[in-house]
Parts: sequence; C-alpha cells; structure tokens
Amino acid sequence: MSSALQPASPHVRDSAVAATESPRVPRPSNAEAPAANARVRLKAAELSAFFGSSEVVKSISMSFRDREVTAIIGPSGCGKSTLLRCLNRMHETVPTARVAGTVTLDDQDIYARGVNAIEVRRHVGMVFQRPTPFPTMSIRDNVAAGLQILGRERPSKTETDHIVEDALRRAALLDEVSGRLKESAFGLSGGQQQRLCIARALATRPAVLLLDEPTASLDPISTQKVEELVYELRQDMTVVIVTHNMQQAARVSDRTAFVLAGELVEFAPTNALFTTPSDQRTEAYITGRFG
Ligand code: ADP
Ligand code: MG
Repeated sequence: MSSALQPASPHVRDSAVAATESPRVPRPSNAEAPAANARVRLKAAELSAFFGSSEVVKSISMSFRDREVTAIIGPSGCGKSTLLRCLNRMHETVPTARVAGTVTLDDQDIYARGVNAIEVRRHVGMVFQRPTPFPTMSIRDNVAAGLQILGRERPSKTETDHIVEDALRRAALLDEVSGRLKESAFGLSGGQQQRLCIARALATRPAVLLLDEPTASLDPISTQKVEELVYELRQDMTVVIVTHNMQQAARVSDRTAFVLAGELVEFAPTNALFTTPSDQRTEAYITGRFG
C-alpha cells in the first residue's frame, strides 16, 4: 500500500461523502496508507453478541492495530455500539446479554475464566455518545475517577495530580481548564465535557480507546476539536471510533469497517473503502442509497 492516504472526499465520485462539506481536518499530505504489518493489539474472532435470543452481532472477525484509528460505520441499529461494548466487556453488564467467540488484547483472551472485567476496562477505555461527567465532582476528581479502577494500587494525591494534568493535556483540555480544576465539571461546555470524559478514560493509560459516536451531541467546533484529538491519540495507542458520519470516518480513520444488520460487510483501508468499495452493499451505503 504505497499511495498516500488523502482525504477521501475529493476522490469519491457522486457519493454521499462528496456531496457534503469538505473535510474540516485535512489529513497531513504525507499521511501514509496504513501499514500492512502494524501490530495487532485487539482482535475479535467470530464474535457474536446476543440480547436474549436475538443475535445483533453476527460472527464478526476483525483486528485493531497499534497506532491506527479504526472507524466502524453502518446504519442505526446495525450493532455498532454492541460490537464496541463487546470489546471491553461492557456488553455483559446488560441483563440477558451474552457474547460468543473471542476477543484478545495482546493475544490474551479478555473473556477467559479468571479475567476481571474491570481490569479489562482499564486497558480498553470507553467514551460514550453523551458526555457523562460526574455532576457532583470537580474537574480534577472527574479525571481521577478513572483511577478508582486501580483499587489499592491507586496513586498518591501528588501522583494523581500529575496523572490528571497529563490526561487533560492528552485530551487537549488542559489549557482551557487549568486554574479551575477544583470547580464543578458541570460548568464546562458539552465539547469540554466530552474531552473531560476522554481524559478520564486516558488516566489509566489504556492500550485501546473505544469511542461510541463521541461527537454526536457536539457542535461543529467541538466536533473538530475531538476529531483532531483522535488523530493525535493514534500516535501512541489503538483507537476505535463508531460514527454514523461518513465524513468523520474519512477524516479521522486509517481503516473503516462497514457493518450491516450485525454482519461485517467490508473492512478496508479507509481510502479504499470510500473510493473503491468491493461489496455492492458498501457502495450503496456510502453513496447514500440506503441507511
Ligand atoms: P447501533 O449502535 O448500530 O445503532 P446497537 O448496537 O445499539 O446499534 O443495537 C443493535 C441492536 O440491538 C438493535 O436492534 C437494538 O434495538 C438492539 N439492542 C440494543 N440495546 C439493547 C438492549 N439493551 N436490549 C435489547 N436489545 C437491544
Ligand atoms: Mg450506537
């Protein structure tokens, strides 16, 4: 894969991607197509997810690589959130929910007997569609809340201050909140609250960050900030982002997966998926013929 990965939009003929606004976060012109040999961190194999007897994720196999952003797109209700929630053992928190198949993080089965789900979530962090700051907590304590997971290994107060600052910096929020870390997180805008939630997830230094439509409730400026942040974070971690926004997938991701009715239809380098999809259903979706 030697061709430079360009913003997908200008290349896409008569598609829904091309039909809307141009990318707000142009990719660096020297951005490479994803390396074929990048290390796999997280891997789903024949992963199925059920609510009761209803199978909403159907035997999906896919790998998520180090220092890459993988986007998951598909129509509403196709199983994107459920797939994501299987990757850090959140799915099982719903009564009647069940998972089949395997998910491995660095070749370790996260569903193996004896593996603690809380521990898994420390390494595979998650951010949801709506910002979920803890309303009664300060900005600092919201970020530090991510460390509660560590139990007795929890860092000292001074160490925590450093970790909070570092996480806020990585979440591109520090400049906007330094000096008011003790104030309530509720004083922040929606976009800042979402970056706060990202900081909270980053505090435990996860290997993988899962983002479920993280900009769905944000205005365009806040959306751009989060997109830029996602692009930065990929420098030292694995990012998986669910989005119903194809422009966003094209802007921020290295690879894109198209899911339809619980099945993985196509998974390819983002540029290829949006310009030369190999499955007719993918083409129909990205050109706006359904979904
Ligand atoms: P997406 O994120 O792509 O919109 P979801 O993963 O949320 O899709 O949902 C996939 C399917 O699972 C949908 O048919 C949805 O109605 C169903 N579903 C989601 N959550 C639950 C739940 N808690 N109980 C039962 N069914 C659910
Ligand atoms: Mg969803």
